[in-house]
Amino acid sequence: MGLLSQGTPLAWPESRKLNEHVRDNGVLQLISCYNAAKERANDPFLWGDEIEYQMIRIDDEKKIAQLALDESEVLINLGAEGKDHLRAVKNDVLFHPEYGRFMLEATPLRPYDGRKLSDYIYVEKNMAIRRDVARKEMTDREVYPVTMTAFPTMGCPNFTYPEAEPNGRASQSLFLPDEIINKHVRFPTLTANIRKRRGQKVDINVPLYRDEYTDMDHLDSTIPKRDLFPSDKEPFQGAAKPGYIYMDSMGFGMGCCCLQVTMQPPDIYQARYVYDAFVNIAPALLSLTSATPFFRGHLADQDVRWNVISGAVDDRTPVERGVPALEGHNPRGGAADDVKLQRIPKSRYDSVDQYLGDLQPSHVNGSANGHANGHANGFSKELPDGTAINESPEIYHYYDPSLNDMKTPINKKVYKELRKNGFDHQLATHFAHLYVRDPLVIFTEKIDQDNGAETDHFENIQSTNWQTLRFKPPIQEAVPGNNNTPGWRVEIRPMEISITDFENAAYSVFTMLLARAVLKYKPNTYISMSKVEQNMEVAHQRDSTTNGKFVFRVNSFHGQDQPGQYVELSLDQIFNGYDGFEGLIPVTRQYVSETFPATTEKDKEDLDKIDAYFKLVSERASGRIPSTAKYLRDFALSHPDYKHDSIVSDRMNYDIVKLMARLDNYDHKLLPKFFGDELSDWLVKHGY
Ligand code: ADP
Ligand code: MG
Ligand code: MG
Ligand code: MG
Repeated sequence: MGLLSQGTPLAWPESRKLNEHVRDNGVLQLISCYNAAKERANDPFLWGDEIEYQMIRIDDEKKIAQLALDESEVLINLGAEGKDHLRAVKNDVLFHPEYGRFMLEATPLRPYDGRKLSDYIYVEKNMAIRRDVARKEMTDREVYPVTMTAFPTMGCPNFTYPEAEPNGRASQSLFLPDEIINKHVRFPTLTANIRKRRGQKVDINVPLYRDEYTDMDHLDSTIPKRDLFPSDKEPFQGAAKPGYIYMDSMGFGMGCCCLQVTMQPPDIYQARYVYDAFVNIAPALLSLTSATPFFRGHLADQDVRWNVISGAVDDRTPVERGVPALEGHNPRGGAADDVKLQRIPKSRYDSVDQYLGDLQPSHVNGSANGHANGHANGFSKELPDGTAINESPEIYHYYDPSLNDMKTPINKKVYKELRKNGFDHQLATHFAHLYVRDPLVIFTEKIDQDNGAETDHFENIQSTNWQTLRFKPPIQEAVPGNNNTPGWRVEIRPMEISITDFENAAYSVFTMLLARAVLKYKPNTYISMSKVEQNMEVAHQRDSTTNGKFVFRVNSFHGQDQPGQYVELSLDQIFNGYDGFEGLIPVTRQYVSETFPATTEKDKEDLDKIDAYFKLVSERASGRIPSTAKYLRDFALSHPDYKHDSIVSDRMNYDIVKLMARLDNYDHKLLPKFFGDELSDWLVKHGY
């Protein structure tokens, strides 16, 4: 999340009157950003990561672990305007607000320089500093920042410290008190407005892990029968399903932690190309980093957080979702009567469903750059209303419009406006798709803006479309020549957070070096979008890391001229390669050896560390070491307190948290089982 607007947020009935205003002006702001920065070129490859933490209070006497709500001042103090901000800055780190009052987000102070080997090594150190700064800041010495995706007993009785009743008006959740929500007014408003727009509470049903004594046939008996809000009836009106873990509030999703990395390719063309290249790598990264086997005190039959967040912020009305409304509910949800609703297949938090297209800059068309046999865009050069558009044909390198085979609704008015202002079809479609959503939180003080200089309205829509990748345009000051402001960026968002800084650094560094390799070797990784969708589903299956089959395009790196071939690959084959595919790790290794020669002793040491990072990715992908999700699930299944009923008790929760806290300290006794013998030896030898 970016900086928070100060001011008074509007409740839904008021807010929805301004939806068109925000969209109209947001689009003008986008156009002014685009015009300022479309010619920007030769930006240095900069990048940064974001790490999220849960603040957990561990009570060793009572043997319980709870989410800590009283440390939320830490973020305010360390944040951009806080009294301890300098302490963060001096340590070269930044802290950012997050949804949960028990959460922290931290990034490096400045982006890393992707051209320098030493910066890839610095990442892990910076992550360790962040953890350290955060820990030192805790006023309660029993509270620890833990990099955990979802707190196992979130939503069970007394899961917070101090304890709080789930009776809040913003979420109306049967399980989560409003006290878990960040105190900044934006967050409770966001929670309430999603619920109001949808016309009912969100409902998330995660498949329950089936064990000997698991009750798969009845509605979960821990769903309270309460009569505080009319919405209390919803689980019994069909919102909850037998055999599933039911969750009813935004906090279950936005309370999850993840790892994100953002890069700045040299220009908009390369940004679009690398974005597209990662569209189908994203599901593989989600599976690789699987770390979430528990939700609301139950063992789940899946390993990742993604669809939980997707459901947790799903503000679509029944009409938009294409389902009947629950008994007594309006199919139009909280939409205003005069608004025409269209069918929207996916939540605003979901996988990418549009390629941007690897458009070629006009001066490259047909040049000696090897792009001569690009595809001309098959779309007509006219607006949906038949107005002709005067521009040169769009030339793509690998992209072909038939790859965008998902039924993706767009905001036609926005599309038209963007096309009139020089956006090509694919870019206009991308943003016009984001603009099918309503703004969720509008601040009265920010209604009227200078569209040539401000971007709040644009960001309002952009930052509440949470896809596996985010294409981030520069702001208006980002004129060519002013490379001090951020340029065109691509954010990679699917990865789960891992327990140790070593793993989080490994995944960040690997992903960015892979992006560099992609930009250098120009593989064609395109597959039809519907197959990417299928891969996202596979990534959710339990043990997808070892058992999942992902559709992938092979002969993509070094045999580009041959026609693409789609095959089903395991993660092992995707990352480590096999006869029919080079493998993402070998290609990235090649990039590293060509780019960073081992000249000095320091270089050798640094490259040895990069090698350890590759090793982790390789071992996880091959299944030689367990995914985090598998490791944690196995721990729970063999816990003495476990009754083979798929229930995570408070004591199990405590032991899981303790286990994770020992791991993030690299407890040598735990390393061999978690990392395997080879990596474990490497870690011990290197002083972890
Ligand atoms: P958001 O939450 O909207 O993604 P954050 O500010 O939390 O935004 O994170 C942005 C990430 O982008 C950080 O890791 C930061 O280091 C990185 N970053 C900042 N400037 C650039 C840049 N010019 N190029 C690439 N990455 C950048
Ligand atoms: Mg975040
Ligand atoms: Mg952030
Ligand atoms: Mg981010």
